[in-house]
Formats: sequence, structure tokens, C-alpha cells
Amino acid sequence: MTSNDEYTGEMPSIEDIATVVRSCTKCGLAGTRTNAVPGEGADSPSILFIGEGPGANEDQQGRPFVGRAGKLLDELLGVVPLRRSDVYITNVVKCRPPENRDPLPEEVRACWPYLEAQIRLLNPKVIATLGRHAMNRFLPDTRISDQHGRATVWRDIVVFPLYHPAAALRSSTLRQTLENDIRRLPQAVLQSLEMNATRASERPTTVVQTPDPEPEKDSGQDRLF
Ligand code: URA
Ligand code: SF4
Repeated sequence: MTSNDEYTGEMPSIEDIATVVRSCTKCGLAGTRTNAVPGEGADSPSILFIGEGPGANEDQQGRPFVGRAGKLLDELLGVVPLRRSDVYITNVVKCRPPENRDPLPEEVRACWPYLEAQIRLLNPKVIATLGRHAMNRFLPDTRISDQHGRATVWRDIVVFPLYHPAAALRSSTLRQTLENDIRRLPQAVLQSLEMNATRASERPTTVVQTPDPEPEKDSGQDRLF
């Protein structure tokens, strides 16, 4: 597989995606990164956390959320309780924007197919966005102050926006809000399970007795994309 593949064909593994990302040169951030940061965690996570892009520590180590914000995220996951290995953590762009600037639209566009492939493959119950930038990739024109801690459906997946842990490091009020929202993640996972169960029960049932030379194609197709 090359870095130009858009994953329209055969389903890659999560590690295949990581391998392609590590040597990707599809946008200008390839020229300034030390290490690309594909993401890490469980193969079949109930929750996929998505930040905006790697910072300096992540760029050095090639791992997501390993600096101060990452330590706070680990600590807050611990109150649920969840461990990092129970979830998957990645970013909208996989390479660090210089000086931690916002990624450019063309960088987000170039990197987006990796995130799409990760979402499709991991098939999480809930996508938890970290910070307003990551949230706006899924829910454009919305405000984090309105959306945090509220489950919204995006393409059949529950999206649950959270404040960014770096913002929570700067404000004890936001830290408490982030903690309260994170405590409600299991409820969002339940909502997602209920939504999918309702959808499954609404699907037409197969009539087994009727001979059918052309059985209906798998109706699971409406789940993602
Ligand atoms: N902030 C992010 O958005 N992502 C990281 O991986 C680290 C800090
Ligand atoms: Fe490739 Fe994404 Fe890194 Fe750009 S940010 S070089 S598209 S992995």
C-alpha cells in the first residue's frame, strides 16, 4: 500500500494505516515533523478520542497525548474508570503543525482519509472530540460551550464533544466541566448501543421460508459511509 491510497479497496488493518502514516508525504507537514503520530489504543474500542494535531512531545515520541494535556487525559479517564488501552486516541492531522499553529485546510484535507479509515475500521460506539477544532470537523458551525457533553449523531455514530485537556489545564472550572463530561461517556456509549439496537430491529427481517435465488445484500451497509 502506498501513501496515496485512499482505502477504497481492500480493508487495511489499523497497523497498516499507522505504517502508511509514518512515511506519508501527502502534505507540507511531512517536511517539518520529527515523527508522524498515527494514534494508538484498542483494536475494537468503544470510544475513539480525536484531538486536533500532535504537539512537541507527541512529535518527539510519535505517540498521541503524551505531554501535560495527555497526563491530565489519563487521569480523567481513570475516574470513569478507563485506561488508555481501553480506548483509541488519535488526531485530525497526524503530523505536528510548526509552532502548534492550526492546521491549514489543505493539510486537514490531505490527512482526512486516514481518520476516515481509522473510524471505519475501529467502528467505535462513540467519537469523543477533544477541543473545538476537532469538534468542528464533525459538527461545523457549532460552539464547544453549547456542545460539550452532548451526544450528537454524525453519519450513524455518536459524537460526544469534550473540552481540550490543554484548556482544562488553564482553568479549574473547565477542568471540572471536562471531568463531569468524561464521567458521562459510558452513558453516551449506552445511547449508541440503544440507537444501533433500534436501527437493527427496524431493518426488514429475512423471510427464511421463501426460496430466494438472489438473497438480499447485507443491510449492514448503511452503518458507516
Ligand atoms: N493536543 C492534541 O490535540 N493532540 C495531541 O496529540 C497532543 C496534544
Ligand atoms: Fe501525511 Fe497527514 Fe502527515 Fe500530512 S499530516 S504528511 S497528510 S500524515
